[in-house]
Amino acid sequence: MSAINGTRHSQDVDLLVVGAGVAGLYAALCAASEGQVRVLAKGPLRSSTSSLAQGGIAAALGDDDTPALHAEDTLRTGRGLSRPTAVGALTQEAPARIRDLVELGVEFDDDLGLEGGHSRRRVVHAGGAATGDRVARRLVERVLAHPNIEVAEGERMQSLWRSQDRCIGVVTDRRAIRARATLLATGGAAALWSRTTNPPGALGDGVIAAYRAGASVADLEFVQFHPTTLVDSTLLLSEALRGEGAILLDEFGERFTDELAPRDVVARDIAARGTVLLDLREIDRARFPSLMGSLMERGYDPAETPIPVAPAAHYTVGGIVTDLDARSELPGLYAAGECAATGVHGANRLASNSLLECLVFGRRAALAALGEPRLSRHGHDVAPEPCPGSDPGHVLGGQVDEVVRTALWRDCGLIRDAAGLERLQASSHLLTRLVAESALLREESRGSHFRADFPVENLSLERHIVLRLGHEPALETWL
Ligand SMILES: Cc1cc2nc3c(=O)[nH]c(=O)nc-3n(C[C@H](O)[C@H](O)[C@H](O)COP(=O)(O)OP(=O)(O)OC[C@H]3O[C@@H](n4cnc5c(N)ncnc54)[C@H](O)[C@@H]3O)c2cc1C
Repeated sequence: MSAINGTRHSQDVDLLVVGAGVAGLYAALCAASEGQVRVLAKGPLRSSTSSLAQGGIAAALGDDDTPALHAEDTLRTGRGLSRPTAVGALTQEAPARIRDLVELGVEFDDDLGLEGGHSRRRVVHAGGAATGDRVARRLVERVLAHPNIEVAEGERMQSLWRSQDRCIGVVTDRRAIRARATLLATGGAAALWSRTTNPPGALGDGVIAAYRAGASVADLEFVQFHPTTLVDSTLLLSEALRGEGAILLDEFGERFTDELAPRDVVARDIAARGTVLLDLREIDRARFPSLMGSLMERGYDPAETPIPVAPAAHYTVGGIVTDLDARSELPGLYAAGECAATGVHGANRLASNSLLECLVFGRRAALAALGEPRLSRHGHDVAPEPCPGSDPGHVLGGQVDEVVRTALWRDCGLIRDAAGLERLQASSHLLTRLVAESALLREESRGSHFRADFPVENLSLERHIVLRLGHEPALETWL
């Protein structure tokens, strides 16, 4: 290693992957047969959101199913905003990606699960509701064992390294790293909301860094709220439970919604009643051993009593705008997984399509990234160009404290209006301001975005809201 302007920098790599969830790990494995890969993770390798995923991964594997039917369900849930070409890639490549995981040693359960919004049984799962943990563990094992992959655990990206209108790596809390291509796989931002199912690190670091470096970001107003989280906790009670027959009851013990309706509909139906009860007494609880164990640990007996649940922020649909090969608008910079906006989810995500997105677009990113030009040797001596507003040593987008998190929950939660969103625009936190700006511009209700002051869809807004540093927001159609 050598020093540049007081910052150490290390040997170049072909692909630098920031993030060790399913998107980053799988992309690293796909690239490693052709090049040198380095993976950074700011937290422990097994602390990603991916490890928490319960329901599973959607793929048209059943005899009565096809990728076209999977695409139809995805497009319907996306409420006119899903990008058809991205949905085509996602659904057609899904069965092959599941086979890849099996080859890597993931053992899936025998049957296919049914989840809200899916017209067929098509969700593969492992260990009942332990899918994310099983998949992430196996990918971590494979990555750690690969001779062409180096892993830096506990190393945090502070900003992207941009030189001559190209991303040439990142600056971390330890050093500067140059790479032919950089893949952001930093996950979502739902931990910015005070009620969340996400781990504390899910703060949108990649989206903030990419925006500051000049890449465009989009669809930030679409945030999915999971309907059924155990009250006063982050424990999610998976959709798969409702797929297997769990029912929702109001304070009078009456059913009040279609348990398998899209998440935004179920979440708002629950939110209108405050806390409701999820009745698990009639389902085969032996199929969900880890979930049942978690409930018992917290003092609930699902065999005896319905469980109190309420919605929580769960998934951020928007992120860094990419093409179908996960390229951002900044040459050399790629994004995949929850931090990317490929357009597959449109205005709402179909359950179990996100781990699939990590696999399909993580692989596409890896293959495309290896085609990037090699960096010139001369660049070794170039100091990192700080991106506008970058702030090494400090939290990427400004301090995230309870004030920020509570304000997002209150003013940009399940139901928004202009007054709350205007208040949020004064937030000290960059991503909070960008989310508020997007939600304010979307003067309609569509998918996971619900405006009390604009409660219906507006055809003229069947477009993506795209933000670029130093430019006016743009409305775009993606084909
Ligand atoms: C409780 C729960 C259940 C879910 N169930 C399902 C499901 O059943 N099916 C489904 O499809 N989806 C599910 N999801 C959603 C899905 O898990 C996520 O969308 C997906 O795992 C995101 O993966 P990722 O690889 O993009 O990011 P993550 O898994 O979030 O990984 C992000 C990585 O980036 C690292 N990172 C972040 N910032 C930095 C930085 N500045 N520097 C260095 N490293 C950084 C993190 O440390 C982490 O390693 C669920 C989500 C939750 C919370």
